[in-house]
Amino acid sequence: MKRQKKQAVTTGRRYASVREMLVGEGAPASVIKQYDALSVQAFRHTLKPQPEFFGPIKAGLQCFDVRQNDRDFQIGDEILLREFAPCAKCGGLGHYSGKDRKMPCHCKQPHGDYTGQECLVRIKYILFGDDRRVIIANWCVLGLEQV
Ligand SMILES: [Zn+2]
Repeated sequence: MKRQKKQAVTTGRRYASVREMLVGEGAPASVIKQYDALSVQAFRHTLKPQPEFFGPIKAGLQCFDVRQNDRDFQIGDEILLREFAPCAKCGGLGHYSGKDRKMPCHCKQPHGDYTGQECLVRIKYILFGDDRRVIIANWCVLGLEQV
């Protein structure tokens, strides 16, 4: 049986939007679904990575991040990364290990300083952990692109 040739996007019709064009030209449902996911109002998260994690992303060398999935990350969401240099005494935790117990750190909240360096990125892919892969459940790998 001869395979039917796929019709290219050359019907000459005019569309009011990219979505209408995708539907009108018979794009697969999966493509339309991806388009819808990217088109919804991007939710913006704010994170405070430490310099060793912030630097490579800002420099464009690292286009992914491995994180606990505790913020309902979605494809298309934006993340504002604000570089944060944690307090040297407590590492930003607010406490440190004393001789035999946790000692409260008495420096000012938030136990460190924002350096003023920022970087806006968008999530373009998410690999969710599920315990069967290298990434364990409740963790994820975010594919990132700079905005
Ligand atoms: Zn501190």
